[in-house]
Amino acid sequence: MKGRKLLMIPGPIEFEPEVLRVLGAQTTSHVALNFITAFGNCIRNMRKVWQSNDGQPFIVSGSGTLAMDMAASNLIENGDNALVISTGYFGKRYKDILERYGANVTILEALPGNTVTIEKIEEALKNKTYKLLTFTHVDTSTGVFVNPKPIAGLAKKYNVLSILDGVCSVAGEEIKQEEWGLDIVLTASQKAIGVPPGLALLVVSLKAMTVWEQRKTLVSNYYCDWQNWLPVMKAYEEGKPSYFGTPPVNLIFALEKSLEIIVTEGIEERVKRHQNIAAAFRKAITSLGLKLLPINNSIAANTLSAIYYPEDVNGGDFCTKMAANDIIVAGGLLPELKTTYFRVGHMGSVSTKDMIATLSAIESVLNTTSFKFKLGDGLKTFQQEVSSVH
Ligand code: PMP
Repeated sequence: MKGRKLLMIPGPIEFEPEVLRVLGAQTTSHVALNFITAFGNCIRNMRKVWQSNDGQPFIVSGSGTLAMDMAASNLIENGDNALVISTGYFGKRYKDILERYGANVTILEALPGNTVTIEKIEEALKNKTYKLLTFTHVDTSTGVFVNPKPIAGLAKKYNVLSILDGVCSVAGEEIKQEEWGLDIVLTASQKAIGVPPGLALLVVSLKAMTVWEQRKTLVSNYYCDWQNWLPVMKAYEEGKPSYFGTPPVNLIFALEKSLEIIVTEGIEERVKRHQNIAAAFRKAITSLGLKLLPINNSIAANTLSAIYYPEDVNGGDFCTKMAANDIIVAGGLLPELKTTYFRVGHMGSVSTKDMIATLSAIESVLNTTSFKFKLGDGLKTFQQEVSSVH
């Protein structure tokens, strides 16, 4: 591994060398023509990746939490009702954010490893009038995947704005923002989009922009207010200079490069690559006798896997030994189960070779414990699975 460790956490991920090269270039002016062109290209390619012809993209300095904050602060007015569908840590974070802006939040919480049923969501929507609902496409704390299409359909039926936290899914899982009728799909740069941390990225539907335009009160977050950012996004798209807050020039060039790589691969092909790698990895993990946190494969994410440690295996030791084997994985995140599982990210530039290196390290580390399994079974299963796809 040429003297460095492989970063297999669910973000930040391993970045493409071309993206990192662009990031290291001399910084130019944020009103230079080549920068304006790059920004415009990012906006246009975001629409392709999100599959939203009419949506308004926003590219702002910040992390995924800022993207969540921006959606909430621009749409919520004091006293509005909001419904949060939570599949883990990040659903609960959305509740906190919405409440900061004065929303009355109802939260539907799934048991760890499970989702909230569509019937429960419909029942909640029937019982109360909501301005918006939020849900997490892939909750990075549990590895649970939620199918956005039926929830977006319900939101339309009950005339509720839908916000998809796609921080751990955009450019890794299938998203058809316009066709499915999602009002906001938000993400951050450091995951499947493939750019080092620092960019909050959102695409907002025309309907959500109209709801924002019709606000009766000022947006109470100055930095997030679309009033400040919309003219900048429009100007850059039209090839004109603009300014509100200094944009992260190098990150924008890196985003331009990464989006170009994504669009060249083709979004459908990219999603399929994620699905194939994830399915083979899950099969390999279960063939070793390990258990995944999602209760079944139909709700298991394709961008990361959350895996329980076997009994008698110390989590802290496991991750340290993985690092000594040159593979960095993440520990648990959900407070109630934190010490019982670990997480492997497999998104963006991820290849079958990365997964083979990861599985090999998992087997080597387990082999130093009292856990009983057949050395090589996981690797064999993975290789059989991926070769059966090609
Ligand atoms: N939502 C989800 C699903 C996430 O995975 C994360 C980050 N892991 C966030 C929101 C918050 O993003 P950030 O850490 O970039 O603020």
